[in-house]
Amino acid sequence: MTRSAIALSRIDKKYGVTSVLRSVELDIEEGEFLTLVGPSGCGKSTLLRVIAGLEMQDSGNVFIAGRPVDHLRPKLRDIAMVFQSYALYPHMTVEDNMTMPLLMRRMSFVRRFPGVGRWMPGSRRIREDIATEIRAVADQLQIGGLLSRKPAQLSGGQRQRVALGRAMVRRPYAFLMDEPLSNLDARLRVEMRAELADLHRRLEATFIYVTHDQVEAMTMSRRIAVMMDGEIVQLGTPEEVYNDPQDLRVARFIGSPPINVLPGKVTSAGTLSVFTADFGYRVSADGPCRVQVGVRPEDVEITEFRIGLIETGGLQGRLRHLENLGNEYVAYVDVDFEGDQWTVVSRFPPRELHRIGSPGAPVGVFLNEDKLFVFSEAGGRLSASAPTKSSIGRAS
Ligand code: ADP
Ligand code: MG
Repeated sequence: MTRSAIALSRIDKKYGVTSVLRSVELDIEEGEFLTLVGPSGCGKSTLLRVIAGLEMQDSGNVFIAGRPVDHLRPKLRDIAMVFQSYALYPHMTVEDNMTMPLLMRRMSFVRRFPGVGRWMPGSRRIREDIATEIRAVADQLQIGGLLSRKPAQLSGGQRQRVALGRAMVRRPYAFLMDEPLSNLDARLRVEMRAELADLHRRLEATFIYVTHDQVEAMTMSRRIAVMMDGEIVQLGTPEEVYNDPQDLRVARFIGSPPINVLPGKVTSAGTLSVFTADFGYRVSADGPCRVQVGVRPEDVEITEFRIGLIETGGLQGRLRHLENLGNEYVAYVDVDFEGDQWTVVSRFPPRELHRIGSPGAPVGVFLNEDKLFVFSEAGGRLSASAPTKSSIGRAS
């Protein structure tokens, strides 16, 4: 059985009157790599600081390796934090920066003292052991050649590696990483993502990785926790969060280009319409009512306009703009509905370009009837079952 490495039970935290964490529950398995993702200001850093003991929660409990740690100072929680700002000592070499945490732990104050400490029995041995360990970690991170440099002589990526190395030499029980890559340029960030995932496999330690970047979150770990306004609103694999969002905020946050959110209605018979198109969905809501229907850009099909389109379940729109991203196209289509203009976004591979016509032209819009997410006006996901047999026509 897997044991939980870090467990949070009903964590609440306020700054003044502002609730920053609301009843956060989370259970991270030993050795797991969990990504915590959410927009800026949603409480991610605060949550990490509570776990590390740098901040005290107002109520609720933190457990590490099965033990309550609420009374323990940060040092005693056996956890390393890695920040976006590298927090290296600028006047020390890379080697000294990495040595410091071990020196503090293994040598008494007197032993660390220059001059006196050097001559105490055993000091040399301790320093040699530390140097060996530093070299091993440095090699693992490919910074072995940089040990005698100062932080100012390093690139951003190298500094981040040193910061990581300094955390690693302590062999902590868990690593908490707060947007560690956000100061790096886009290319390096992609490289470092893969390296961190690889490092996690080799270290077999528990990682909590915080980011506001949904692409990063989708690519790094087996499970992600999506946080909004101080709450964890969904926890699951990247696929679950993308394909089965439980909350409109999650649906909007994950995915690029973002999901379409379109006006829908549930009839008194419990069936769904989106714009003017009827779908055979059964929605568990007391109809008639308005709903918000989410559909991902890849589940929207654009065709040339033709007679009979509406009868086959299509909508009429006008192609406003087409973006060529190389490996795919993104089309922006205006749809008029009840006096408002809506934009529907579609993405598709270049081989489908011939269907579409040129900007300004009338087009047909087909929503994939199996891929509609129905949300209440308040944004909660409603259970809706897609029609078993196609009850509306499809674009061909
Ligand atoms: P994130 O890391 O997701 O961007 P934070 O945890 O840093 O979010 O902040 C969450 C909220 O708490 C924000 O609204 C922020 O302004 C507020 N906050 C964070 N730290 C403090 C503090 N020390 N005093 C008052 N408000 C704070
Ligand atoms: Mg933060």
